[in-house]
Amino acid sequence: MKDPVCKMEVLNENLRSMYKGKKYIFCSVNCKEIFDKNPERYAGK
Ligand SMILES: [Zn+2]
Repeated sequence: MKDPVCKMEVLNENLRSMYKGKKYIFCSVNCKEIFDKNPERYAGK
């Protein structure tokens, strides 16, 4: 799965968020915070 913020491929799911019923995973706490502040920008269509 890809980190929606930095587009890096992420293998572990330790850092994840749910948005509109979809799961997103992140390479770092930093990326997760960016996503959580503005999920609609990164969640795609
Ligand atoms: Zn990232």
